[in-house]
Amino acid sequence: MNAVATTWVSGAAGSPYDVDNLPYGVFSREGQPPRVGVRIGDFVLDVATVAAYGRDRASEGDLDLASVWAQPTLNAFLALGRPAWDAARTWLVEVLGNEVHRARTEPHLMPVDAVTMHLPFEVADYVDFYCSIQHATNVGRIFRPDGDALLPNWRHLPVGYHGRAGTVVVSGTPVLRPSGQRKRPDEVAPTYGPSRRLDIEAELGFVVGAPTALGSSVATGAFAEHVFGVTLLNDWSARDIQAWEYVPLGPFLGKSFATSISAWVTPLAALDAARTPLPGQDPAPLDYLRVEEPAGLDIALEVLLNGEVVSRPPYAAMYWSPAQMLAHLTVNGASLRSGDLFASGTISGDERDQRGSFLELSWGGAEPFAAARTFLEDGDEVTLRATAPGTAGGRIALGEVIGRIAPAR
Ligand code: MN
Repeated sequence: MNAVATTWVSGAAGSPYDVDNLPYGVFSREGQPPRVGVRIGDFVLDVATVAAYGRDRASEGDLDLASVWAQPTLNAFLALGRPAWDAARTWLVEVLGNEVHRARTEPHLMPVDAVTMHLPFEVADYVDFYCSIQHATNVGRIFRPDGDALLPNWRHLPVGYHGRAGTVVVSGTPVLRPSGQRKRPDEVAPTYGPSRRLDIEAELGFVVGAPTALGSSVATGAFAEHVFGVTLLNDWSARDIQAWEYVPLGPFLGKSFATSISAWVTPLAALDAARTPLPGQDPAPLDYLRVEEPAGLDIALEVLLNGEVVSRPPYAAMYWSPAQMLAHLTVNGASLRSGDLFASGTISGDERDQRGSFLELSWGGAEPFAAARTFLEDGDEVTLRATAPGTAGGRIALGEVIGRIAPAR
């Protein structure tokens, strides 16, 4: 429970969705087009309608939030940048925190169960990193048992690849088992068919708001000017397709069939109290990757398989920080667009029950876990959940990510 009751919204004070959280999403009611909503307690606030009431108020200046929030994605709001995001947050805390606004605001709260949630933003580009040294070491040992677990570049740069933006889906979207070329080590040639090693990757996704021009780069210190917030992210992975195709150019069809994100984007400002020092980097990174501490995030994840917790990955254990990912992503002059999404890579801690993929939990399929399971079966449902310290002294929740496996077509 949070220490301070800060909102008049029924049941929200002290909940994981108090006014120190306020994640953004896109919702619709039956027969109406999608628009931006903000979650408070178990309600969604129709922020465009409420903001329109205040258009004539001098204190809100020239910021026309009502029109950007009336749109079917967060992209226009994301493009406004840090000063607008901060002003919006200040306004929301006032509207939801001060009883004087209750009468005109309360009619625009809807139970979250009564609305449909949509993909919160149109994903521009999608990049996935590989920032957990525990995950990279585990995967190295499983895929290359006779070689060095970490490749020579790993401690010098955040390794990443470009994923497929168009197949990022919102929580709740069914995940079709992909088909493709698979070859077991004991087979001489590949066969075509449904993946036999379908897996998850528990990750955090970072949502870029403020764009940059081609040729410019984003210094680690400018991270918060460009990144609006975070989502939980499940990077569904077909390990058999991946293992056969990934040399020498990296992941391709083994990951591009679906990536699930939360319906809610948690603003960076809600994670101020979650900032924590990195576990330590050796050797010291090159200058463009240097960060001021605390550069990490203390976010506690849970992975559930069919309702049972099978892992608790700690984001605080990540080797590379979010600001380092963004600095590296742009150091060659690659520009950013509003709606760019970059993810951390699988989050794994030191302990066996902190591993963020079934590949690691089952050690390449050799060690069944959770009711004799190795990889995903049709009908399985995976849920990612997470909480973090909130600025009011309690814990805030990130929006969960749920996906159920549908049989291959
Ligand atoms: Mn991944």
